Amino acid sequence: MRIIRTFGMAAGVVALIGLTVSAVGQAAAAEVRGWRTATTEHFVVQAVLNDAQLTELGERCEALLGELRAKWFDDGVATDWAPRCLVVVHGSAATYLQAVPGGERTLGSSWIETKEGKIVTRRVDLRADRVDWFAGALAHELVHVLLADRVGGYPPARWAEEGLAILADPTDKQQRHEADFRAAAAQGGEFRLAEMLGHTEYPDATRITAFYGQSASLVRFLIKFRTPADFSAFLKHSASYGYDAALRSTYGINGIADLERRWLNSVHSEELAIR
Ligand SMILES: [Zn+2]
Repeated sequence: MRIIRTFGMAAGVVALIGLTVSAVGQAAAAEVRGWRTATTEHFVVQAVLNDAQLTELGERCEALLGELRAKWFDDGVATDWAPRCLVVVHGSAATYLQAVPGGERTLGSSWIETKEGKIVTRRVDLRADRVDWFAGALAHELVHVLLADRVGGYPPARWAEEGLAILADPTDKQQRHEADFRAAAAQGGEFRLAEMLGHTEYPDATRITAFYGQSASLVRFLIKFRTPADFSAFLKHSASYGYDAALRSTYGINGIADLERRWLNSVHSEELAIR
């Protein structure tokens, strides 16, 4: 069984003490009095809410899923979506951290399990004790869940999935990630693309904010260059044939070095400004 755990990182956080990125120990559902669930077409939502509130939450999840599919995956055809995605809305840090060990500095987390190439678990945990938790974290985590579908349960590279998920974040959060990247770059702490694209896991805590910010910048560039659907196709292609070949066939870009040159030109112009 393969497990993909992602974290929705708070941007602009300098200290990341206690961040753990190993995908071990998915906790059993935390013991909370009053947990209730509601089932919709694509989700099981779990929260301490009354029936009307749960129904509304399920409807908002469905609406958001539809928006994200249309915007980032150009997906008019419903993909096979079994099992439903469990969305657990935590009212406190305590139950969230039981479910997401090591997630002290995170706002949300996604959990995908695959077995023999098929997705057998989709789960999102969210901290609802944070301001603006719905827009601030759920869209990001659902992009992770949708991307796992799109690449057939194959774990996408960390830079690619975090970069794309950040593009679904609210504008101010994206701007903070961009500022993290620019601050790192000003001190020579940015990644060379050959290194960044080679990361199959998250980098260590000292470089993770730069990694999130730079990943978002690169994905913003690639999506502006072609389309979101082309970006998914590129990821799938690169998993089989490597980045250089996939860059040539999808984008007409002559390998990673050429990508780096073009992307840096955009970074130094105002082309990638977040508005
Ligand atoms: Zn993420």
